[in-house]
Amino acid sequence: MNNLPTHMGKLEVVCGSMFSGKSEELIRRLKRAKIARKSVIVFKHSFDNRTFIEFVASHDGNKIAAISIENPLEIFEHLTPDIEVVGIDEVQFFSHDIISVVMRLIEAKKHVIVAGLNLDFRSLPFGAMPTLMAIADDVTKLTAICVECGLDAYFTQRIVNGNPAKYDDPTIQVGAQEQYQARCRGCFVIDKKPVWQNLQ
Ligand code: ADP
Ligand code: ZN
Repeated sequence: MNNLPTHMGKLEVVCGSMFSGKSEELIRRLKRAKIARKSVIVFKHSFDNRTFIEFVASHDGNKIAAISIENPLEIFEHLTPDIEVVGIDEVQFFSHDIISVVMRLIEAKKHVIVAGLNLDFRSLPFGAMPTLMAIADDVTKLTAICVECGLDAYFTQRIVNGNPAKYDDPTIQVGAQEQYQARCRGCFVIDKKPVWQNLQ
């Protein structure tokens, strides 16, 4: 026998384009943890200051109860010592504080499972995702089906008022009719190549 801890914290990242099944996979893993009688808590981004209970839902209609939060530090307000598994959906929308929060959870021996977009509509790395993918114990990269040609889709095409979004479009365009599609590398359309310098 040695003195190694019986269990350690860990981080699993599930990433991919929109419609690739990230929420579905996150829900699947969290439901399995519940079946294994683990104590599970789930968070998602709220986009406003209210904290309330809702659901992480997949495009297929599968769902699990989740707490909506805006600031990653709010996770600690809901964490009780009995919780073993922490799920976070849409993790790309959180500020970079999510990185130190996830590290603290791992150090507290929590099993953390996060899902999020690895690339934004410009095909640039999204928020804290690159760092989370780098520090993760395990990364699962999922693909959707390209709506144009049926090949594997790695990209999220943003359509504004029926046309491919422009690279310099604001992230949120007031009054615009917006839509997102899964597309392969060949069918993804953007008017500028990504600028790879000065990435945060
Ligand atoms: P994500 O969280 O990655 O956006 P979801 O888990 O919410 O994905 O939804 C995945 C589901 O979306 C698939 O199981 C499928 O039913 C549906 N879907 C709709 N459009 C597509 C597409 N273009 N490629 C793959 N799945 C799609
Ligand atoms: Zn395609």
